[in-house]
Amino acid sequence: MNYDKENIFAKILNGEIPCDKVFENDYVLSFKDINPKAKTHLLIIPKEPFIDISDFLQNADKLYLSNFWASVDEIINNLGFRDQGFQIKTHKGKDGGQEVFHFHLHLLANV
Ligand code: AMP
Repeated sequence: MNYDKENIFAKILNGEIPCDKVFENDYVLSFKDINPKAKTHLLIIPKEPFIDISDFLQNADKLYLSNFWASVDEIINNLGFRDQGFQIKTHKGKDGGQEVFHFHLHLLANV
């Protein structure tokens, strides 16, 4: 499977489609899920074009991986979530429930 440059998150990244942005740096963009499954439901996406978590873990270089996860931690800290419960989920492949084929994390919390 090749990365589809027309996927909806690619269009959010290039500004074609708006999003409710909560965080952005050189590595990631985070915005509110349009169909929230919890009181807080954010999506965190890399700015680089990875299809899913396997593509990301196999093909992102070590520095990018490190900066990505540091950015996730920064978002968690900004939200004040380090000291409470939350969920991070990702779907991989159609069989895994993935609908948008640009790697993303779901960050969910009931606060
Ligand atoms: P997944 O099943 O992991 O691929 O989930 C894709 C997620 O993207 C779903 O939770 C959708 O509600 C969300 N989503 C789709 N389009 C948008 C959009 N334009 N802005 C924000 N979230 C979106």
